[in-house]
Amino acid sequence: MKKITILIALFFTILLSSCNNDNQENAWITENDNQVIQNQESVEQTKKLEKPVIYTSYYPIYFLTKSLIWGNAQVINLVPAWWEPHDFEPTLKQVAEMSKSNMIVLNWLWMESYEEKLLENVKNVPIVILSEELKDLIELEENQSEDIHEDENEWHNHWNIDPHTWLSPKQYLQLANILIEKLEKNWFTNLDKSILLRLETLDKSYTNWLMDCKQNQIVTSHEAFWYLARDYGFGQHAVFWISPEQEPSAKDIASVIDLIKKLKLNYIFSEEFVSPKFTDTIKKETWVTVLNLHPLESLSDIDENNNSDYISIMEKNLSLLTTWLECKK
Ligand SMILES: [Zn+2]
Repeated sequence: MKKITILIALFFTILLSSCNNDNQENAWITENDNQVIQNQESVEQTKKLEKPVIYTSYYPIYFLTKSLIWGNAQVINLVPAWWEPHDFEPTLKQVAEMSKSNMIVLNWLWMESYEEKLLENVKNVPIVILSEELKDLIELEENQSEDIHEDENEWHNHWNIDPHTWLSPKQYLQLANILIEKLEKNWFTNLDKSILLRLETLDKSYTNWLMDCKQNQIVTSHEAFWYLARDYGFGQHAVFWISPEQEPSAKDIASVIDLIKKLKLNYIFSEEFVSPKFTDTIKKETWVTVLNLHPLESLSDIDENNNSDYISIMEKNLSLLTTWLECKK
């Protein structure tokens, strides 16, 4: 079986090396050789170890794949620590390496804004688009999405669908099952499925702890928590939309201050990636407590030093939510 996998990998390597010239000529990807492949094991080293290579588009997709694959393949996360995946595009070199890999796992359109172009440029490598298989996806209001998707006519077919599915343990559990099916179909059969039990436990904790809360709405800087809010019975009010790296204008900040005063809020949820200008001004001009709710799009150095992972960060998020929603337990 291992021999067959190696032979298939070799076949793809030879076949796809002929596509690389096309990739070199294609200027759609920004070249940036300073980007770091988070997994730290280069594809060259991987080839020496004769392990298949799976590319994943950003942290939650990486975590899921890595947990399931265990040591049976090299799993590479395209987005380095502290990098915002909303704006990330792979370099030409990375695309060439992806063309020689055994599988590519993505989440969903416009989290991977390069997805369609990747599909055009990387042939003969199975590309799994996980959240596309989910039922009950959330459609965002049109006015919420118009800022970001100027070029939707070009290649965004589903640009108004909220991509942040991994932030609900219920949805993430479904993604795990979809990924298992796809991996097994592509000859990755010796999977460690213990992650399923950990995700079921996480889902139960969220259900139990968020069952009976005094407050029914969270206020966030990054509109990333719709699936979480819907699946566990509360609402989300986002004070600015989707992209956390966006620098808020003075008008944005003024409108947040108005909102805090109008709704008499005691707290808002922000995150590490949001501009300090936003949190500092809010703290200075209002009484509000600003807490960081982790969107799990990427890990920071602090997360990595603490050995934090999807499960431990989601547990921390739950503890913040139960406090600020005033949940009884
Ligand atoms: Zn996001």
